[in-house]
Amino acid sequence: MKGVMGKVLRVDLTEGTMREERIPEAVYEQLIGGVGLGAYYLYQHIPADADPLGPENILGFVSGLLTGTGSVMTGRWMAVCKSPLTGGWGDANCGGNLAPAIKQSGYDAVFFSGVSDKPVYFAVDSKGPRLEDAAHLWGMDTITAEQTIIAEYPGRKRPSVAVIGPAGENRSLISGISNDLGRFAARSGVGAVMGSKKLKAAAFAGIRKISCAFPDTVKELSKEYSAKIRRQNLPPIVKGGALPLLGKALGLPVGIPLDAMLTTGLFKKWGTIYNNAAGVVNGDSPLKNWSGSKVDYPAESYRKINPDNIIGRETRKYHCYSCVIGCGGICDISDLVPGTTHSHKPEYETVCVFGGDLLNDDLDAIFIINDMCNRGGIDTISAGSTAAFAIECFQNGLLTKKDTDGLELNWGDGKSVIELVRRMIAREGIGDLLADGTKQAALRLGNRNGNGNGNGDRAEKYAVHAGGQEPGLHDSRFDPLLGVHFAADPTPGRHTIGAGLYYTISHLWEKVSWAPRVTRPYAKSSDYLPSKTNALKTKANACYKALTDTVGGCMFAMITGVQHWKIFEYINAASGWDRTADDYMEAGLRVQTLRQLFNIKHGIDPRSFKLHPRMYGDPPLTEGPNKGKTVPIEEMVGEHWHMMGWDRRTGVPLEQTAVELGLDLLLAGAAGAAKAAGAADAGAAAGAGGEGEGGSKGDVDGK
Ligand code: SF4
Repeated sequence: MKGVMGKVLRVDLTEGTMREERIPEAVYEQLIGGVGLGAYYLYQHIPADADPLGPENILGFVSGLLTGTGSVMTGRWMAVCKSPLTGGWGDANCGGNLAPAIKQSGYDAVFFSGVSDKPVYFAVDSKGPRLEDAAHLWGMDTITAEQTIIAEYPGRKRPSVAVIGPAGENRSLISGISNDLGRFAARSGVGAVMGSKKLKAAAFAGIRKISCAFPDTVKELSKEYSAKIRRQNLPPIVKGGALPLLGKALGLPVGIPLDAMLTTGLFKKWGTIYNNAAGVVNGDSPLKNWSGSKVDYPAESYRKINPDNIIGRETRKYHCYSCVIGCGGICDISDLVPGTTHSHKPEYETVCVFGGDLLNDDLDAIFIINDMCNRGGIDTISAGSTAAFAIECFQNGLLTKKDTDGLELNWGDGKSVIELVRRMIAREGIGDLLADGTKQAALRLGNRNGNGNGNGDRAEKYAVHAGGQEPGLHDSRFDPLLGVHFAADPTPGRHTIGAGLYYTISHLWEKVSWAPRVTRPYAKSSDYLPSKTNALKTKANACYKALTDTVGGCMFAMITGVQHWKIFEYINAASGWDRTADDYMEAGLRVQTLRQLFNIKHGIDPRSFKLHPRMYGDPPLTEGPNKGKTVPIEEMVGEHWHMMGWDRRTGVPLEQTAVELGLDLLLAGAAGAAKAAGAADAGAAAGAGGEGEGGSKGDVDGK
């Protein structure tokens, strides 16, 4: 088959050895590549009791099937591992130029196991793979280390480099991996796993060709998509100050089946930050550690984070490999951080978490923190959420100035957060407590009572996370289907899997036989119901996103919809297969089920991925656009699991599902594992008075 390299490299860092492994074609047919290939490999090779920061964990750098085939919007690579943050499946994906470089090195993936006894970095080029000493790089920030490796590189081709910063070296559970001088694979604690292996960096400088079955067809598809994107330009009259009006429109109680191609003008002009002020107005942006509303962060605050103020610092646009949108930007912040020559524009999530979630409107502080996080190698979503947790603990006496070495933590004080984040990256003082995210910090703070008032407040009351991971900054009270994905995905707390809005603009029903049609305006109140239609939508979201991650696709292309970014046609043309959209959505379901089975194998109870009550409106907010809204999250998650062919009460994939998806043939024992876990849970549920699972695989006729 075409499109893939057909083999992976396994590097044992304890022994310093490497071996190539061929991947059977059936694996690609069933799981496509990218995250599917990662799940296939890690499910088999990581033992159930492996310490995520120990030698048995495996960290993979994987690339997707479409990357490098001539298809556009397919430059995302993915880090995969057992997550030290959740204890289950971990992945994080990132753009830049690394994804094609992995394939050009001759492999679809490179997997690292073991622990090196000294800092090393991995390099691969036309001379083959090797490990290099990294003692001189250890302790460097991500950008300096990447620039050093590139400057020292002996070959003619400039390498693409993935690298950790001090946070990863310090095994912060919320650290990530950087490439392209500050692009970030941030989530799941992948940086801590890399740090635990003493692997500072991986540099890819291969020159292998990437094959494609029907390059002319791929070229036509790319031409068509690129032409549509080129046409999407906002008139200059549209200014950032008008975006709250757009926010108001999207906050109306009626859902409209939009053509998302129209929104790409916003991405081209501002990038993801176009949503920051709009999200405050309509309730999409969580505020004050998910406890506030726009009453707490009024117009005089959110106007300061107007995207025009942010792109005022942009010196050039940034495109990932094969991208025709270009939502990124490079900013000049040399007046704020002297000597800084390269700083990526903060994303929506970063501005929201270090802005409204802390009630902070000091934009300069947000630029400084964003740069610090990228250089230090820490996830902005988790670091900002943990700062919000710390402020709320401080305000309620669970943390004192004694704990913080005199640092005052107040809502709206961006300057103190700069210092707090510096300490988190360095694991210094209070930063050591916070460097592993909200769940771990709350566990360590335990039952300490605020102000000695004996009111029994526990730190966990302020620790907003889903299954150990801090959620993306989109409010599940605003979009309940997003809440289902926060709770039900094998990597909980991820805002990128799906949402009600994503579904409505994906137009999946145009190509997928079982995807519910949304062609007319509908009452958004129906999104708050545990209905079969909603479960079909969340199933479709999950399968579509998993498929996108198997090919290296960008989610901003994914959400422009299948009528524009023709993922199914692309895969056929690149691979040479002739399969239907339903076949590919089934591959997405297979990948998603395998990720869930990974969690089951590693002792994760899917029911433990609970959302913080604030995330589903318990108690409901008393002000703002999400006032009075509560999401029946448990029932909705149960419906979603059922539709996926997983046990409605436990989230364990049914044995029949694993067999029907062919996972048992691909991975000996996968169905048996599902059966064993299902039997154990059935027993527990029966003991608790639960009723049996009536159906098998979810019926899929709700078009
Ligand atoms: S839209 Fe943005 S994130 Fe996606 S590929 Fe382009 S630059 Fe990268």
